[in-house]
Amino acid sequence: MTWRCILHVDMDSFFATAEQQANPSLRGRPIVVSGKEGSRSVIVASSKEAKKFGVKTGLLHHEAKKLCPQLIFVEPDGLKYDFLHRQLINVLAQITDKVEVFSIDEAFLDLSDCTHNLEQAQEVARRIKTMVFCDLGEWVTCSIGIAENKLLAKLASDKNKPNGLFIVDQDNIDQTLLESKLTDFCGLGPRTAKTLDEDFGIDSVSRLRELKIEKLVSLFGHARGLFLYNLCRGLDNSPVVPDSDKDEVKSVSRSHTLPQDTFNKDEILVVLMHLCESLAHELRHKKLSAKTIMIYLRYEDFTHGGFRLTLPGYINDTYQIFMIGYNRLMKFVLPKGVRLVGIYATNLIESFKQQNLFALENKFDQLSPFLDKINDAYGELTIKPAFLLNLKRLRNKVGGFRPTE
Ligand SMILES: [Mg+2]
Repeated sequence: MTWRCILHVDMDSFFATAEQQANPSLRGRPIVVSGKEGSRSVIVASSKEAKKFGVKTGLLHHEAKKLCPQLIFVEPDGLKYDFLHRQLINVLAQITDKVEVFSIDEAFLDLSDCTHNLEQAQEVARRIKTMVFCDLGEWVTCSIGIAENKLLAKLASDKNKPNGLFIVDQDNIDQTLLESKLTDFCGLGPRTAKTLDEDFGIDSVSRLRELKIEKLVSLFGHARGLFLYNLCRGLDNSPVVPDSDKDEVKSVSRSHTLPQDTFNKDEILVVLMHLCESLAHELRHKKLSAKTIMIYLRYEDFTHGGFRLTLPGYINDTYQIFMIGYNRLMKFVLPKGVRLVGIYATNLIESFKQQNLFALENKFDQLSPFLDKINDAYGELTIKPAFLLNLKRLRNKVGGFRPTE
């Protein structure tokens, strides 16, 4: 059998640890990263000390405070996390170029070519831990899983948190699988788990194994059925895809030429609203978020102007992107008639679920996938923020928008 060795690195309590690394007075104390204490935001991350009290992601402030009265609230600081993320990627790049960044605090490494056995792989894991200590900070730790594929490596990294190292090999693979909950597996979310449990009485790996592949495919479709069949057997042949192999999208843009030159800001806003929706939709579709938004105006004499804003965090929500343009445009005195409106999103990164905390308003992030579905079916901006209701849809008047070159 060919030697395949995958390592999964997962930083421990990443956001909270980053805050403790930056501020030693927070170390060893139960802290959470969230909005201002007492606000209506939810906990986005808790330190390992807070986790001991049962304080976890998603709790409301008063719920968390009840569990741990001495809890300290720290507001999120995207730049800090971004910096540590880059440090982590630098560390991993020194091990191999086969690194797939999975989220802001997780990555897969394919060690198949640079190791020959599990001892060597363990040696690499220990080296990574030392480098994390030296380069990211003495308070920062990671948990590492090693296995023959990504599914098992990710499962393994979660087994001994924090600062863990867990290896799944031929001797413990079955035990590890059978001891895991279905929701421990990457790609099997609470919704699928609920369907499996409530509709089919399947609440464990062993029960899932009882279902024949034909049955799973008929219930969940080909791809999903096969995925579940393989999952409970620990099978996964998906490759580690380094970022350099991915088609990198550097920017996403949209522009539209107005039917006639205008000074009317309402007309410009209508166009901008459509451009934002189309652009944000593409970002979400490609699982990207942008840090820099640029609004571009071409005037009647072909000179141009506009504005550019680099945000503290990353966004891909229509409303948030539109509001940036809206706020600027309302304060802006148009020097000449406008003939073209354009919008650019640059400084892109892959959107990770965790980065929702950088968003200005979390609820829009949660809402966007549903709005996308509705707007996909019924046309752009069928559903939009209420204050935009007086802006008419443009679709009926002019054709679609083309991406700018
Ligand atoms: Mg983590």
